Amino acid sequence: MRYLIVGLIAVGSLPAPSELMARDGLRITTFSADITPPLGQPVGLGFIPILKTAEHPLMARGVLLQDSGTSCVICTFDWMEVHNESYDFLRQKIADAAGVHVSHVALHCLHQHTAPAISTAAQRLQLNETDPRRVASAEYLLDVSKKVAAAIHAGQTNWRQVTHIGTGKASVERVASSRRIERTDGSIQGRGSNTKSSPQLRELEEGLIDPWLRTVSLDNADGPVVQMHYYASHPQSFYGDGRASYDVPGMIRSRLEQTSGVFQLYITGCGGDVAFGKYNDGSREARSELAARLQDGIERSIASLERHPVGTMEWSIEHVRLPLRTDGEFSQAGSRRILSDPESGESQRRKAAIALAWIERCDSGHPVELSCLSISHVQMLHLPGEPFVQYQLAAQQMRHDRFVCVAGYGDCGMGYIGGDRIFKDRGGYEQTYAFAGPCETVFMAALQNLLSRAGSARQGARETDSDVQNIDRHD
Ligand SMILES: [Zn+2]
Repeated sequence: MRYLIVGLIAVGSLPAPSELMARDGLRITTFSADITPPLGQPVGLGFIPILKTAEHPLMARGVLLQDSGTSCVICTFDWMEVHNESYDFLRQKIADAAGVHVSHVALHCLHQHTAPAISTAAQRLQLNETDPRRVASAEYLLDVSKKVAAAIHAGQTNWRQVTHIGTGKASVERVASSRRIERTDGSIQGRGSNTKSSPQLRELEEGLIDPWLRTVSLDNADGPVVQMHYYASHPQSFYGDGRASYDVPGMIRSRLEQTSGVFQLYITGCGGDVAFGKYNDGSREARSELAARLQDGIERSIASLERHPVGTMEWSIEHVRLPLRTDGEFSQAGSRRILSDPESGESQRRKAAIALAWIERCDSGHPVELSCLSISHVQMLHLPGEPFVQYQLAAQQMRHDRFVCVAGYGDCGMGYIGGDRIFKDRGGYEQTYAFAGPCETVFMAALQNLLSRAGSARQGARETDSDVQNIDRHD
């Protein structure tokens, strides 16, 4: 009956009868679908050139979990990102196919930049109805939803019992590095994913990262059934050449799956201000070395797994309202002005449309959702946007008695979610693509609420609305 207390959601998508059959502990199915866009078509927001070749397929991969109390889906996309109503659309399609409540679907992009970013709302604000980019993106989104739904249906013919949960971690060497290095004068030196054109940036310190890769293994008597790996960094090596690729995470995922026969999920954590830059000159050799070092970390994490009998599963939700920015180009008036100005460039217009789509979503009363899946002592947090690593580190501190894993890049409508200082920083990139205003206090409070509540009692899904408004103007 717990679905009745998920207040804001219509009861039209109650769990399928199959859930009620899951009386004998935890069980799992997996799904995987090739969602590579049609080559040569202007799919996505246009951050990257039209894809002409596919070095690797882009995949949607996930798991559907059920026990006698609840059911949920964790799904990853090899996409740059997905925003607002496009996110809602996919999430609902996944929920319908899986027979779970939409609030129990965690959908996360891995954030590769050799893949599209999707926002129907932004394109509606930026482009005419017949614009080829808008048409191709809408057709692609619909096609992806059908492919993922079909994969979820197919997966449900192969349920497997989960009797044990394993947790492990390993420190990854020379992969992640901060994108924001503080200079001695207090200003910020930006450092992207690839330092080919500025090798001196490789000499700077690694900066604030979370070096730990964490693995959750769901096992039964036959061994591991699914392994989920969490690591916080922008995952791209090189991009912008019209090539689709699942990049470093997909390369590792594919190799591990071939050698182990175990379904692998890679999940990008709070990597908003973290990337490969210090260790990446943008060459294929560097990509191979990065993938080898990250894979080594994953293998050591797997080797460290400690298994425990699996307990019950809980799903908790926290709704927050993030403040709008009111400064210049980020305000509603500023965004509209850019969109209506024929002199505005393409990237300016795209950014204004993304900003305006986010403002309209907030104004419609749509809250930002965070969730936490708890199984035994494991807490898997699902966060929106491109959160900075400070949030992941804080979450782990908040529950050092638990094994806390964090997924970022859920609904990315608000862009980067940094600390409040970014709005006063001199230098650095992320504040130029952050559409929510200062929200550190609200976001930290939401994490605290989720983590303190989740797994604390067998009370099933609960929901609170942190109606905290913080509409300070900032510089
Ligand atoms: Zn990013």
